Amino acid sequence: MTLDTPVTTIEVRNPRTGVADYRFEPTTPAELKDIARAARAAQADWQALGLEARIAVLTRWVEKVDAAAPEIVAAVTADTGRHAESLREIGNIGKWVDRWSAVARTALTLEPTPTANPDIHSFADYAPYPVLGVISPWNFPLSLSLMDAIPALLAGCAVIIKPSEVTPRFVEPLVASIAEVPELAQVLHYVRGAGVLGAALVDEADMICFTGSTATGRKVASQAAARFIPCFTELGGKDPAIVLEGADLDRATSAILTGATLATGQQCYSIERIYVHRSLHDAFVAQLAEKARAVKLALPEPGDGRIGPLTFAPQAEIIGRHLEDARAKGAEVHSGGEIETHGGGLWCAPTVLSNVDHDMAVMTEESFGPLMPVMAFDTVDEAVRLANDSPYGLSGAVFGPEEAALAVARRLDLGGISINDAGLAPFFIGDATVAEKTAFKSSGLGGSRLGPDSIKRFSRRKALLVNRSTQKSPWWFDA
Ligand code: NAD
Repeated sequence: MTLDTPVTTIEVRNPRTGVADYRFEPTTPAELKDIARAARAAQADWQALGLEARIAVLTRWVEKVDAAAPEIVAAVTADTGRHAESLREIGNIGKWVDRWSAVARTALTLEPTPTANPDIHSFADYAPYPVLGVISPWNFPLSLSLMDAIPALLAGCAVIIKPSEVTPRFVEPLVASIAEVPELAQVLHYVRGAGVLGAALVDEADMICFTGSTATGRKVASQAAARFIPCFTELGGKDPAIVLEGADLDRATSAILTGATLATGQQCYSIERIYVHRSLHDAFVAQLAEKARAVKLALPEPGDGRIGPLTFAPQAEIIGRHLEDARAKGAEVHSGGEIETHGGGLWCAPTVLSNVDHDMAVMTEESFGPLMPVMAFDTVDEAVRLANDSPYGLSGAVFGPEEAALAVARRLDLGGISINDAGLAPFFIGDATVAEKTAFKSSGLGGSRLGPDSIKRFSRRKALLVNRSTQKSPWWFDA
C-alpha cells in the first residue's frame, strides 16, 4: 500500500439479514502514517507517566466504556448477529484491565539482585516497544482487538489496532469512549480497512500482534521478519477432545457440546474433533446428539436461543463443503448437518457426526462452525496419534480419571489443554495465577496470553550490571 493507493468504501454484510447495511471509508495510507507518527510521539509521555498513572487512565476509560455499553453492545451484536457473547465481550474490557494491572504490578517490578560475583549487582529494566500494531479477526471483534492492546498499554506501549473489516461497526462507539479520556486517545488508535491496511500497519509498527488465520499469519510474520520486528501470531486450530475409558459420560458430553458450539463454533479454541474410547463410543454419540438437538438457534431475536448465525458468509461455504465431503465418504449425521437460511442469514445447528476418519476434511481442516465429528479409538496410543495428526496445535481437552488424563495431555502437541472440561484457558486470559501457554505448530508463534509473560512480552529487556568494586577487574587488560 503506497500513499497513492486508492481506497474505496467498504460495504458490510449483516449476518442476520444477509443485507449490506453498513459502509465505511477506510483509513487512507496517509492517515495511517500520521496516526503512527502521533502515536510514536505520544508514547514517551505515556511511558513516563508510570504504571500507576497508566492504570488510573485505563480505569477511567472502563467507566466510559460502561457508560456507553448499550451502544457498544448494539454495534457488536449487529457485527456478529449474537447477543450473549457481545455482553461477554464488553465485560472482558474491565476484567482484563483489572487483571493485567495486577500482573503488571508484580511482573514489571524491578528489584536489584545480587549475582554470583559479589561485586556485581544486576538491575532488570523494561523498555516497551514504542508502537504495537494489532491486527485482529471477526469472530470476537471487540475482545480480540483489545486482548493484546490492554497489557501493551499497561506496559507503556502506544497501540494502533486494525480490526477485521468484516465486523467494523463496534469501532465508532468504542472510539467515542476512548476520545473521552484524552491521555488514552493519544496512545490508543483504531484504523479501519481491509488486509492491505493491515499490511501497511506492519510497516509502521515496532511489534505486531496478529490474531487470525494461519494463511494470513504466515504473510504477516514474513513481512515482520523482513523488518526485523517481533511478531506474535495467534492462528487457527483444530482442537481435539479425547474421551478415555472411565470418563464421566454426562460431564464429557455437556462440556464438549459447549466447547464445540459456543459462539456457533466460531472460536479458534473450539473442539473440532472428538476421539472416544470404543467402549463408550455409541453411548457418547447418542447422548451428545440428544443434548445437541436441545440447543436452539438464536431466532427470532439475537437474545433467543444459544446458536447465533454464521457471521462470515465464506465460512458457511467451508462448513457446507466439510459436511458434503463427510457425507459423501460415509459419515452418519445424528443432529443438524445443514447450512440453513433464516431471514437472509446463514445458520448451522449443532451437528454430531459419526463414522468419520482422517480422510475427511471435517477431521483435518479448520471448520470454524458447530460441528462435532466423533471417531472411536481402541488404545491410548492410537488416541494420541490421531489427536497429534494435525498441522494445528492450539488447544484441546482430555476426559477421564485425572492421572490418566494428565498423562495423555503431556503427550499432546497442544498449548492449552483442559482436563475434564473444555475451553478453560480463555477464561484465564491475563490471569497471573495460571500457567503460561504458547501455540504449537501452525497455530502460531509467540508469547503467552496467560501468566506473567502476557505483559512482559511487550518490552525489550535491559540488564543493567553495576560493578561496586573499587579494585581493578580481574578480566581487564593488565595495563
Ligand atoms: P484472517 O486471517 O482472514 O484476517 C485477520 C485479520 O488480518 C483481518 O483484520 C484482516 O483484514 C487482516 N489481513 C488480511 N490480509 C492481511 C495481510 N496481508 N496483512 C495484514 N493483515 C491482513 O482471519 P479471520 O477470517 O478474520 O479470522 C478467523 C481465523 O482467526 C480463524 O482461523 C481462527 O482460528 C483464527 N483465530 C485465532 C485465534 C487465536 O487466538 N489463536 C483467535 C481468534 C481467531
